[in-house]
Amino acid sequence: MTEVAPSPLRRLPSVDRVLRQPNVAALVEKHGRAETTQAVRDTLAALREDVRPGAEIDDETIVASVLAHLDARAEPRLKPVFNLTGTVLHTNLGRAVLAEEAIKAATAAMRDAVSLEFDLASGRRGERDDHVRALVCELTGAEDATLVNNNAAAVLLVLNTLAQGREAIVSRGELIEIGGAFRMPEIMARAGVLLREVGTTNRTHPRDYADAMSLETGLILKVHTSNYRIEGFTTEVGARELAKLARQRNVPFVNDLGSGTLVDLSRFGLRKEPTVREAVEEGADLITFSGDKLLGGPQAGFIVGRKDLIATINRNPMKRALRVDKMRLAACEATLRLYRDPDRLAQRLPTMGFLARNVEDVRQQALRLAPVLAEILGGSAVVEAAPCASQIGSGALPLDTIPSFGLLMRTKDGGRAVEALSAAFRKLPWPVIGRVADGALVFDLRCLEDEGIFRRNLSFLRIEVTS
Ligand SMILES: *Cc1c(COP(=O)(O)O)cnc(C)c1O
Repeated sequence: MTEVAPSPLRRLPSVDRVLRQPNVAALVEKHGRAETTQAVRDTLAALREDVRPGAEIDDETIVASVLAHLDARAEPRLKPVFNLTGTVLHTNLGRAVLAEEAIKAATAAMRDAVSLEFDLASGRRGERDDHVRALVCELTGAEDATLVNNNAAAVLLVLNTLAQGREAIVSRGELIEIGGAFRMPEIMARAGVLLREVGTTNRTHPRDYADAMSLETGLILKVHTSNYRIEGFTTEVGARELAKLARQRNVPFVNDLGSGTLVDLSRFGLRKEPTVREAVEEGADLITFSGDKLLGGPQAGFIVGRKDLIATINRNPMKRALRVDKMRLAACEATLRLYRDPDRLAQRLPTMGFLARNVEDVRQQALRLAPVLAEILGGSAVVEAAPCASQIGSGALPLDTIPSFGLLMRTKDGGRAVEALSAAFRKLPWPVIGRVADGALVFDLRCLEDEGIFRRNLSFLRIEVTS
């Protein structure tokens, strides 16, 4: 038998002993007994794995590890970030930043009981759509409106309600896929609708639709080609013409606008996107659009149009599964209200504010921040204020860019060093998300509102030097 070295396990204190340490009481106070006890167990278990035989570990080190462990667990996973990607409506970063009015309304709805499905005048049951119906109709000219979880849900619900077991006629040029898993043909299949593709990728004519019509036709669908454009030798059939054809054959015509803005974007110096009001005037029976794209509100899907069709949709049991909650409804109502005063939209609605922001203003900000950043980065990167191009994102005006200004950071050895730099910015207490282009890290400043917080945040930057 050989002598066995004393087990390092013995040198670790018991869970109880750690919990009795004087400064652990404060941790229990802050995080609770169960959470703290578990953190002590996890810390001791980790040390048991790590510790070298014979090593002494003092109580202070253990308590410090417990504290770090608890802090890490208490850190929220969903964090506010600086969106300096140059994409104003970035789907992965939560799309629209809400207006202060919408935030207040949502907060109030969270805190208290609300008249969600309660008619205060009669004291009877009300409908949740009642809170936005009149506003949406006023702003779009539609007869009626309903609200669901998002635009994907709006399309699904419309298709299922009007064409289950029958055909939906769509142009081949409009069978879109939107980031992630929104593919028009797949949504149709899940809605129980048979896809009847007409025309070719680049050209679809009125007779293609007319020839495809039969007793099996449930509806005609037009889809805004949000994230691409087919150029060159192309023809598409306009909404007005499709509406006419649909009316002759007595089938509904549905127009999925995607972003669907409520105002003419040319007032903010952008190219015009079709507005919802125009789509209504063109004669669509139903129109669908998102709440968190150009509209600048919370995630939601609007369905507007004919009263009888909206009533049928509201009777579909699926509607219940796709409805919006009180917080988003409150935020939607407050956001829509802002559209009654289009002149002040750019001041009150962050999405419009970002899009309308003067490039000279962005340039001045870049010139102010470039030296600040250069000093913090020291020798690890060269910083330059440089012109760049923003885009709207989320499928609005996909090929258009907006002149902007940003901070461009180049590292000596490119590639990995740029990645490391970009990772360091993502590790900040308030992560900064830029984009890497041509081997440089670019922060497009169009969406940077709070310069003070941005500067203070930067002081936490730690760059790991890679060799
Ligand atoms: C974005 C988009 C959708 C999906 O809308 P969500 O609000 O993201 O669910 C559907 N159709 C079109 C044309 C779109 O642009």
